[in-house]
Amino acid sequence: MTVPIATDQKSLFFRDRLMDWHRPEDRPLPWKENKDIYLIWLSEIMLQQTRTGQVTPYYKRFTGRFPVLESLATAEEEDVMHYWQGLGYYNRARNLHRAAKYIYFDLEGKFPSDYPSWLAIPGVGPYTAAAITSFALGLPHAVLDGNVFRLLSRYFGIFDPIDTGAGKKLFQQLADQLIDRNNPAQFNQAIMDFGATICKPQNPLCDICPLQSKCIAFIEGTIGQLPVKKRSVARKKLVLNYLHITDGEAFLLWRRPPGSIWPGLYELPSLPEDTEVNAHLKKEMGLIPTEVKKVTQLKHQLTHREITATFYRVQISDFKRLKKGDWILVKYKNFTKFAVHRLMKKYFHIFMD
Ligand code: SF4
Repeated sequence: MTVPIATDQKSLFFRDRLMDWHRPEDRPLPWKENKDIYLIWLSEIMLQQTRTGQVTPYYKRFTGRFPVLESLATAEEEDVMHYWQGLGYYNRARNLHRAAKYIYFDLEGKFPSDYPSWLAIPGVGPYTAAAITSFALGLPHAVLDGNVFRLLSRYFGIFDPIDTGAGKKLFQQLADQLIDRNNPAQFNQAIMDFGATICKPQNPLCDICPLQSKCIAFIEGTIGQLPVKKRSVARKKLVLNYLHITDGEAFLLWRRPPGSIWPGLYELPSLPEDTEVNAHLKKEMGLIPTEVKKVTQLKHQLTHREITATFYRVQISDFKRLKKGDWILVKYKNFTKFAVHRLMKKYFHIFMD
């Protein structure tokens, strides 16, 4: 469905000022250098829940290994996960891989060419479908991210909550009416960049804002109240204890099972809560340590969880008495071959010898 373009003074002013303000050359991004739909899709999946600055090195590494659809569609999942390592939210990588196979094998390598067909691709929601179709195909679908919600709610003085179905619909309709039909891609980039750099969550730069004279929140002094959210996400607290068991040459990892957090990724063996380290090592693994040292505690946040992880370094003389189990003995020099999750990466980055 095509939404009619908004032609009232306030909307025209918004569109014109925004497009005048935007200078794409100030912020060159590797995936915007051409209109390759595969690369744009890939970058949009990487950018979900991850900041642009963080994504760039991973994007280069990933596209170095999987430069075209075929290379990704025909790769082993483990290889894909390995190259995704560090970006977190691994379901994105699984969906991306599944979608690549679907497009390559079922659609004979032809990418969808409209918004509804993109929405049917695994891992692609309204935001990503709008970003791909506007950036790669020039179609007038407006993106809605946190920056856009904030900017629109303030400029138009909208107090409807942004995290309800009705609120999202309202903002989507407004953004679709505002989008510049001559250059949807630039409009989408501009509106997100503007929210990120001028109409910031705290201390927005109203003094230099080209929208100031018609901004309702500025005029009415309600900037701090917008955007409105109905519910804030309460994160469940989770306590984890990890054992870095080593003889100096090698250490133990295990692979997380399907259905758990971080399925299929590797991590250090964990210690159940309220269990004593030495007793657990002897009973479950047959190991008697020469030294057990608590080395650090790290905080880590996932969408719905706040993790506090304590790491113990367990020195043993050798692994000869190690009982059979799910663990894998890994030489330090081979460590990078295993895809570990972000919390593990944080630990190894700081503490690996
Ligand atoms: S005047 Fe301030 S609050 Fe209004 S759009 Fe500009 S930066 Fe945002």
